[in-house]
Amino acid sequence: MGKSYRIAVIPGDGIGPEIVSQALRVLDRVAATYGHDFEYKELLAGGCAIDATGEALPEATVAECRTSDAVLLGAVGGEKWDHLPGEQRPEMALLGLRSRLGLYANLRPAFLFKQLCAACPLKPEIIGEGLDLLVVRELTGGIYFGPRGRRATAERGQEAFDTEVYSEAEVERIARVAFEIASGRRRRVTNVDKANVLESSRLWRAVVTRVAADYPEVELNHMYVDNAAMQLVRNPQQFDVILTTNMFGDILSDEASMITGSIGMLPSASLGQGNFGLYEPVHGSAPDLAGQDRANPIATVLSAAMMLRYSFGLTQEAEAIASAVEQVLAAGYRTGDIMSPGQTLVGTGQMGQLICEQITKGA
Ligand code: NAD
Repeated sequence: MGKSYRIAVIPGDGIGPEIVSQALRVLDRVAATYGHDFEYKELLAGGCAIDATGEALPEATVAECRTSDAVLLGAVGGEKWDHLPGEQRPEMALLGLRSRLGLYANLRPAFLFKQLCAACPLKPEIIGEGLDLLVVRELTGGIYFGPRGRRATAERGQEAFDTEVYSEAEVERIARVAFEIASGRRRRVTNVDKANVLESSRLWRAVVTRVAADYPEVELNHMYVDNAAMQLVRNPQQFDVILTTNMFGDILSDEASMITGSIGMLPSASLGQGNFGLYEPVHGSAPDLAGQDRANPIATVLSAAMMLRYSFGLTQEAEAIASAVEQVLAAGYRTGDIMSPGQTLVGTGQMGQLICEQITKGA
């Protein structure tokens, strides 16, 4: 019998509960197939938490997450709560979870299954046999958290400022995440900054270069962010792991994810100290699809696979899930968002079931 893991499960709103239940079904199949024990604790956050407790992120949810090995989240938000002022909205639960749980490293893979190459907006000769890169974005520092404000000037009217601040310690810890992960992939880190202009980038680059010395097996190269934005669409195959700051990562990870064509396929991880992490699909609560068995559960299923890999160290099981997804796509099954002529349309539940069957077959 393998180890036992405690997973905090936050289904959230809209399609959240439907996609999370498929991810749990897949985790149950992995547990049964590989002899692990996953213990789930279902928690409230988002709009459903506002309805039940008056708060988007109840203290009990934070406390339970802290005693868990990892968190799996669906999505939050919806029209019902859109009238609320900004700080009371369901989406505040996400920011609250990130900061309260100390999740400083955001991992967003841009993975294009070769079966879905037609969904990629780039030309086939650029994309080749598919795409597999990972953006490692610093999540709790930089310009989104630095000093900001407004001041009146005599000649130019109001002035506003935001400040990019990074300490050596902040850069070092995110750099180590990127190098560790790259060691288990194709061993290439591209550091993206703006060191030709910004002092914060010069410190960032110096610290990344210093950390790289501890990982001689990983090749490091540096790229200015403007060039990186261009290279992502010109030649995305050159990237393995992209390491970058909070703001640059915000922008580049969206650009990278678009290359894969469908938001319903994209998982993410936000990591904190030790092996703890929060795993969620990149997309939102898709209220237009909620309750209709039409949502694509693959982003959430692949988020669960990231949890196995990064929080539990269950690499073989994580790969079994990715490979099961690939087999199901290869057999022509598609949810509506990735449907193309000649393929078989399936619902949320059937997609989950097909992935489970492939896990059993592949074991
Ligand atoms: P969205 O990601 O929910 O939906 C955008 C489009 O993608 C919609 O057409 C939707 O149908 C489609 N889509 C999304 N996920 C899909 C899936 N799994 N399968 C198939 N199609 C899918 O973004 P939005 O419409 O801008 O936001 C809807 C709500 O979600 C809002 O309340 C927003 O604030 C919230 N939101 C939450 C998160 C989160 O919880 N992390 C992220 C983004 C948006």
